[in-house]
Amino acid sequence: MDQRQLFLRHVAQTSESPLLVEVDRAEGCYIYSPDGKRYLDLISGIGVSNVGHCAPEVVQAVQAQAARYMHTMVYGEFVLTPQVELATLLAEQLGPTLDHVYFVNSGSEAVEGALKLAKKYTGRQEIIAFDNSYHGSTHGALSVTGAPGLKEGFGPFLPGVSFHAFGSHAAIDAIGHETAAVIVEPIQGEAGVRIATRNWLFALRTRCEITGTLLIFDEIQSGFGRTGDLFAFQGYGVVPDILLMAKGMGGGMPIGAFVSRQEVMGVLTHDPVLGHITTFGGHPVNCAASLATLRKILGERLLERVPMLERIIREELAGYEVRGKGLLCAVELGSFERVLSVIARCLAGGVLTDWFLHCNTAVRIAPPLVISESELRAGMKVLADAIRAEA
Ligand code: PMP
Repeated sequence: MDQRQLFLRHVAQTSESPLLVEVDRAEGCYIYSPDGKRYLDLISGIGVSNVGHCAPEVVQAVQAQAARYMHTMVYGEFVLTPQVELATLLAEQLGPTLDHVYFVNSGSEAVEGALKLAKKYTGRQEIIAFDNSYHGSTHGALSVTGAPGLKEGFGPFLPGVSFHAFGSHAAIDAIGHETAAVIVEPIQGEAGVRIATRNWLFALRTRCEITGTLLIFDEIQSGFGRTGDLFAFQGYGVVPDILLMAKGMGGGMPIGAFVSRQEVMGVLTHDPVLGHITTFGGHPVNCAASLATLRKILGERLLERVPMLERIIREELAGYEVRGKGLLCAVELGSFERVLSVIARCLAGGVLTDWFLHCNTAVRIAPPLVISESELRAGMKVLADAIRAEA
């Protein structure tokens, strides 16, 4: 059996029609298959490869840390330089109320930790979440995900969760003195890229302050530079009580975090002690990769390129409905059939794209932040041609 057949036989599948792109190596904005075919990556492993594939700084950091020490002891016990340096640099970037970082392994685990933290800190049990949100695939994260279709057959879910329309006043009115937390993506990714207004986020912030509710921003997809700010909340000027990150954070290595202020985070240390624990969270190799990623984003001023790259996307797709901010974009095509055909045409033309979990009528455009103008234009031309061919 060849690799594809063995993949289908022994690696568990999540859909009946996997893309089956066979990967030999990846570099910059390209993924190479063993037959020598090259794919321009317009999705970044879904928002992960923000600094490109195998960024030399990240590879070097991984190699150096792997050779020095890897796992030593569960998170939170030993003083590990890569963790300390990463937490310190993150805190510098995030400001005084987001200066305590809890490292985990994935986006879903960051959501789990944040929900537990909010309940424990407030002593309340109710959570407000939003229609068409995506927060992850574990039980707690799926409980606050606003997509009934994705949840079928997996219930019962966490009690005390209520869903409201994204952007609605009803959501603000629903926040009360029993509400532990509001969890929201400032820019909903898997909904097909839906952008909250500043006024609405500000109203959520204000209401949470009045009721003593913790505001959780899930920036797992929008973070690490994707929207042109290091985190989208910084562009909005609305600061959450708890910030969630993962995906692009590790430059290709698995790491996530929930971040808050010390007063909030401190509740995880007592009654019970070890309120949230994880064996591999904050793995030194992944922290070293993340530190190199963050230094690269800041040092090479990658955020400054993002608005120009967004303009290229919009120029090349003039006449179509493009939603998005920075390099978190969607082009609306109206039907799943057209989306599938466009994705297939792009793949044949050496361009990798995808649809969204809760929006199968739009195509995802989320290339690495390091993509050059000419690479992006070339990729967008393939995409625009595919769309026109399916018109
Ligand atoms: N939140 C958001 C906004 C996401 O986009 C995702 C992943 N698509 C998650 C949470 C879950 O992250 P993970 O897959 O790392 O568990």
